[in-house]
Amino acid sequence: MKELVGHCRACGREVYCRDGFLDGVVQEDSSVLCFACDSVTPRAGDQNES
Ligand SMILES: [Zn+2]
Repeated sequence: MKELVGHCRACGREVYCRDGFLDGVVQEDSSVLCFACDSVTPRAGDQNES
């Protein structure tokens, strides 16, 4: 089973939930990042780049 969760806010890629496992990471503001972008994007709290 595969369910579209949203689109990566960084690259726009579709992020799916597959059998309960998310293809990416849901941020605190409910936006979604794919794993590739999450690994290169500082998490909120680590660094304040906004
Ligand atoms: Zn991405």
